[in-house]
Amino acid sequence: MESFAAHYGSMYQAIQRYMPGTDMTMIDRAVEYAREKHKDQKRKDGSPYIIHPLAVAEIVAEMGLDLDAVLGAILHDCIEDTDASHDEIAKLFGNTTAELVEGVTKLTRANFSSTEQAQMENLRKMFMAMSKDIRVVLIKIADRLHNMRTMQYQSPQKQISKCRETMDIYAPLAHRLGMQKMKWELEDLSLRYLDPKGYEEIMEYLNAHKEQDEAFMATIQDKIKERLQGVGISNTTYGRIKHVYSIYRKMHAQDKSIEELYDIYAFRVIVDTIPDCYNVLGHVHDLFNLVPGRFKDYISTPKPNMYQSLHTTVIGSQGIPFEVQIRTWQMHETAEYGIAAHWKYKQGAGAGNEKDFEWVRRLLESQQDTDAEDYVHSLKIDMFDDEVFVFTPKGKIVSLPAGSTPIDFAYAIHSGVGNALVGAKVNNRITNIDTPLTNGDIVEIITSKSAKGPSRDWLNICKSNQARTKIKQWFKKEKREENVAHGKSSFEAEMKRLLLPLSALSDPELAPQLLKKLSFDNWDDMYAAIGYGGLTAAKAVGRIRDDINKAVKAQNEEKQLLRPMAEAGKVSRHAANGVIVEDIGSCMIKFAKCCTPVPGDDIVGFITKGFGVSVHRTDCPNAQGRNDPRQSGRWVRVSWANQEEQPFDTTLELECQTRDGLLLDLATVMTSTRVRVKELNGKDLPNGHSIFTVRFEVKNVQELEAIRNRLMNVRSVLGSRRGQN
Ligand code: MN
Repeated sequence: MESFAAHYGSMYQAIQRYMPGTDMTMIDRAVEYAREKHKDQKRKDGSPYIIHPLAVAEIVAEMGLDLDAVLGAILHDCIEDTDASHDEIAKLFGNTTAELVEGVTKLTRANFSSTEQAQMENLRKMFMAMSKDIRVVLIKIADRLHNMRTMQYQSPQKQISKCRETMDIYAPLAHRLGMQKMKWELEDLSLRYLDPKGYEEIMEYLNAHKEQDEAFMATIQDKIKERLQGVGISNTTYGRIKHVYSIYRKMHAQDKSIEELYDIYAFRVIVDTIPDCYNVLGHVHDLFNLVPGRFKDYISTPKPNMYQSLHTTVIGSQGIPFEVQIRTWQMHETAEYGIAAHWKYKQGAGAGNEKDFEWVRRLLESQQDTDAEDYVHSLKIDMFDDEVFVFTPKGKIVSLPAGSTPIDFAYAIHSGVGNALVGAKVNNRITNIDTPLTNGDIVEIITSKSAKGPSRDWLNICKSNQARTKIKQWFKKEKREENVAHGKSSFEAEMKRLLLPLSALSDPELAPQLLKKLSFDNWDDMYAAIGYGGLTAAKAVGRIRDDINKAVKAQNEEKQLLRPMAEAGKVSRHAANGVIVEDIGSCMIKFAKCCTPVPGDDIVGFITKGFGVSVHRTDCPNAQGRNDPRQSGRWVRVSWANQEEQPFDTTLELECQTRDGLLLDLATVMTSTRVRVKELNGKDLPNGHSIFTVRFEVKNVQELEAIRNRLMNVRSVLGSRRGQN
C-alpha cells in the first residue's frame, strides 16, 4: 500500500526541482479534482488510484516539461475512467490541458498490441500520428513507465502483453525521441517479465561481482578525475554498468556469456564546454590504451535523435576494456531526456506549438543510421501525412492512404466485404460511407446479402488503389452489358470532344488497324473495359487519335487533289484515254507501264499522289495491293469507255532461244499485222536466251491476243508476257 501523501510529496519536490516557479495552486486544484474523481477506484495493489496520476506527473516533471503537461498528467485518466468531460476540464484547467488529456485518452483507448511483427511499424506510426501534440506522447510514455514499475501486481498474461507492447512501441519511441534514460528503464523492466531467467542470470552475475566492479570503476574514475583536476578541467566523472537489456542483447547478438562480453562498463565525463570535451579525450587516450576503431565523434556528427557525445573505448591496466563518454552538461540533458530537454532550453511559453512539432517530425524522419549496434531497434518513421491508421472492431490495425473512406476500409478487409457494403459505423456511430477516416477510428462495415454491389461513384470516392482495383474487377465481371453501354458513351463523348469522326470506327479499312493499336478484338470488348474502369476513354482515344487524324488527312488530300482536275474539265470524261473512273468523274488517266492495259482487259485504277489515276490490269502484280486494307480507298473501279477507234500503246516481252535471224522473223510478223510498231529490240541473257520487247498500238485486247498468238508461233519463242520489267 502506497500513500497519497508520499506520492504527492515526491511529485511536489520534482516540480520544485525541475520546474522552479511553477504555479502550485493550479497543480493542487488539479490534484484535488483528480483525487475526487478517482476516489472510488483502487490500484491493483489496493492503493488509492490517485497515486498513479501523481507518479506520472512526477515523471513528467522530471522531464522538465511545462505546467500544461503536468496538469495533463495529473488528469490523464479522468476522461477514460471517470465521468469527467473534455469541456469540464477545459473550463477548469484550460483548453490546452483538456486537449492533452483527450489525446492521452485516445491513445489509451487504441489497442497497440499486436502479435504480428509486420504491424509494429504501423502501430508506432499511428501512435505518433494520433498525437498532434508531442506532449501527449511524453505523458503517455510516463504513464507506461509507471505502469511498468508496478507491473508485479498484474496477471502473468497481462504482464507479457504489456511488456511486449512496451518493447515494440514505447521503448523504440523513447529512443527515437532521444530519451535514453526512459528507454533503458522500459527495456529492463520489460525484460524482467519477458525473459525472467535471462534477466536473473545477468542480475545475479552483476550482484556477485558488485564489489569487484565497484572497486574497478572507482579506480578508473579516480584516475580520470585526478588527471583532469591536475590540468584544471572541472568535471563530473562517474562509472556505471551498462543497462541490463543492452548486456542481454549483446550476449545474444554475439552469442557470448557475460564473462566474455566486451565493455559492460561505461564512464561518463561531463564538462562545461565543447573544447573541454576534446581536451578530456586527449587525456583519456594518454592515460589508457586506445582500442582502435572504437572512437566516435557524435559532437561534430550528432545522431538522428540529437544525441551528442564523444565515445572512445580504452583498456586499463587490468586489461579490462571500458567505454568513456565525454559530453557537456547540455548534451547530457539532451541524452537523458531527449525531446523533453528541449523544453528546458526554450525561451518563453508556448511549448508544443507547431514549430516544436516540426522539430520532432524532422527528428522522426527516417535517417541512415551508422551505428548499427545502438540502432538495432531504431525506428523508421516516415512522414505519415499520407497515411491514416484505423481499427477493425476486433482491434486489428489497418493502414490506408490519407483521406480514405469506409469504402477503402471495406475493400482493405476483403473484396467480398466491399461488394456487400451497404453502410458503415465509425466509432459506433452510423456514418456516410464517403466520410474520410481519421487516425484511431474504429470502423465497422455493415454488409447485406442483397447489396447491389459497388456503385461507379465509388471509383471517384475511394482513395486506395486496392479498393479501386477491386471495384473495377467487380464491374468487369458482373456488368458486361452495362459496361459496354457505359464505355461506349464515354468513348464516343471523348471522340467528339477531340473532333474525331465516329465513322472512323466503322470504316472497314481503318477499324481493324485501330483495334490492333488498342489491343482489342472488337469494339464491345473495348467498351466493356472502359465501362468497368480498366481503361479510360481518354487513354483509349489517345492511342488511336493519330491514326484517325492521319487517315482523315489522307482522305482530304485525295479529294482536294481530284476535285480541281474534275472541275477544270481540261480532260473530258471520254477523252480520258478511253477510261471511265467511277465515282470521280473525269480526271487524269495514265496507263501503268508494268502491265500496259488495252481495251477489253479487266482493269482497276489507283489514285496516285499528283498524277491522277493510274490504270492497271487486275492481274498485274502491282494491283494486288488493292486487297490490302491500308491501301483501300486509293483503289477505284474503272472501266473502258465505248470508244473503239483510239489505239492504245501496249508492250509484249518475248523470251526466246537465241538464234540468228530471230529479230528479222519477229519484225516480219509484226509488219504483217499492220499495227503500228513503235519499238522492237532485244537483249541476250547469259543462259542462251534473249528477251525481245515489242511496243505497238492496238485497239483492244482481242487484237493484242491475236498478235501475241502469231508471235508465239515464231520458232524459238518460248514465252511471252504483257508489260515490261
Ligand atoms: Mn494511466
